[in-house]
Amino acid sequence: MKVVELQGARRCNLVERTMPFAKGAFAVVRLEVVPMCTEFKGYKEGWQTDCLGHEAAGTVVEVDGLREVAVGDRVVVMPQYPCGRCRLCLSGEYVYCESSLDPHLATGNSCGSATYAQYMIKQDRLLAKVPEGLSMDLASMANCGIGPSFGGARRIGLSGEDTVLITGLGPVGLGAVIVSKWFGARVIAVDTNEFRKSLAAELGADIVLDAAEPDLARKIKDLSRGHGADKALECSGSPIAQRLAVDALRRLGSLAFVGEAGELSLHVSNDLIRKGLTLHGSWYYNLADVPLVYRLIEERSEAVAKMITHRFPMSQVEQAWQLQLTGNCGKVLLDPWN
Ligand SMILES: [Zn+2]
Ligand SMILES: [Zn+2]
Repeated sequence: MKVVELQGARRCNLVERTMPFAKGAFAVVRLEVVPMCTEFKGYKEGWQTDCLGHEAAGTVVEVDGLREVAVGDRVVVMPQYPCGRCRLCLSGEYVYCESSLDPHLATGNSCGSATYAQYMIKQDRLLAKVPEGLSMDLASMANCGIGPSFGGARRIGLSGEDTVLITGLGPVGLGAVIVSKWFGARVIAVDTNEFRKSLAAELGADIVLDAAEPDLARKIKDLSRGHGADKALECSGSPIAQRLAVDALRRLGSLAFVGEAGELSLHVSNDLIRKGLTLHGSWYYNLADVPLVYRLIEERSEAVAKMITHRFPMSQVEQAWQLQLTGNCGKVLLDPWN
């Protein structure tokens, strides 16, 4: 099977690897749609690896005995290789599992843990069956297209009463716009990139602001009855945006950090105690919410289709990464068979 290998800064190739086999709970999935996430950073920074990606949708082609999935099932592949037995796994918060498995050691496969590939292995309970009638492209947005912001929205208890500030309109932030509108919230979205700002407006953001505008926190407060946004989803990972999210929240507001980077310093008295803020770190979503995420994708299929802006054959992964580096895209999908 073909797999993408990064061979240093801006150097990559398709390489041949052995087909993985099913073992125990691990089934083999033939990948059909591979949503691209943050791997472009590795292309830029010069990682050397043939194990790229954590988002995929495809069809089960091999199982070991009677399992929770069967050959022919269309599935979205959830990220990570959690133990499946600890308290966090059993509660559905498997992404936080502290006893993750090495899929190669667990199965004897020499490969099969990358999504930038034609086949992969995954435990059956992390293969989320795609509802009938839902396309694989749309279903694959149950990974990081919709997933991280859905988890964040749950943590901050987002509802139709809220004005939510979304900072950062990359693919996760664009997904956050769709998720927040589905929860009924009023959305104020912030970014610098023109392409992403106009896409956010198309996806339903009520107000879109440029991150470079002066005195943005004040402006957001003025747009929120003078008090500030009720809730915030920080999707950029930029320290400036993280600071903005803290400053633009109303007293007793809640914020979920979803964007994975940055260092933020907080004044415990002024920022937290006197404002009564609740801050959450939020990584992905509870496994029990998979049916709800699929329902959201079905109910908002038009917007979800719009957030997928580009498709590339896997043989052109380099062009796809170069596009991602410009920021002028929403979610980008790879086809592993072309
Ligand atoms: Zn676990
Ligand atoms: Zn992702």
